[in-house]
Amino acid sequence: MTEHILIVEDEPKLSAILRDYLTRDGFSVTISDRGDRVMDWLESNRADLILLDLMLPGTDGLTLCKAIRAQSAVPIIMTTARVEEIDRLLGLELGADDYICKPYSPREVVARVKAVLRRTRHNAQPEPEAQLQLAEQSNRVHFGQQDIELTAIEMRLLQVLMQHPGRIYTRDQLMDVIYPDRRLVSDRTIDSHVKNLRRKLATLAPEHDFVRSVYGAGYKYE
Ligand code: CA
Repeated sequence: MTEHILIVEDEPKLSAILRDYLTRDGFSVTISDRGDRVMDWLESNRADLILLDLMLPGTDGLTLCKAIRAQSAVPIIMTTARVEEIDRLLGLELGADDYICKPYSPREVVARVKAVLRRTRHNAQPEPEAQLQLAEQSNRVHFGQQDIELTAIEMRLLQVLMQHPGRIYTRDQLMDVIYPDRRLVSDRTIDSHVKNLRRKLATLAPEHDFVRSVYGAGYKYE
């Protein structure tokens, strides 16, 4: 069945390009250039994913995201023209599945749409064989027949990220979890722990990319 994408975007050139790319990739598309018509539309139509711009005439993307989430688990990708905005949006825990900063390439948007759809479908039908298993007492992580040892901090990072697959955690949020007393550590410390964690996981499961870095935002588990 064709998956239907709702693009809520008030720049007609942008939405037209996205529609072309998504249609070429086999999606069907509806465009809304105002925020205040979306809830009505959703009452009588189905969307498999919503690409939601932040600044919109009518109702803004933030209000809209909350309203949609209050009644539906439909995947939402938010787009914004300011990279600094992404941090703020993350802090608000709107429940969006991903965030993309403008200007973006339509190709990248299509790739993100596919990734979010794949992930949300996965959540519906988990495949236990493709999951990491954590053995907390021994600080070991198992994947299939293999396992490796992590440091206590790497273990804690992985636990936190795995609690909400797909959710992006900022460095700040990870720092709060790992160093509750905020000792003298810079946020680059988190980067190096995550780097080591990813390197170890890559030796365990080279074909998977479990911990992803989201440019300008933070990290997430997939
Ligand atoms: Ca806009």
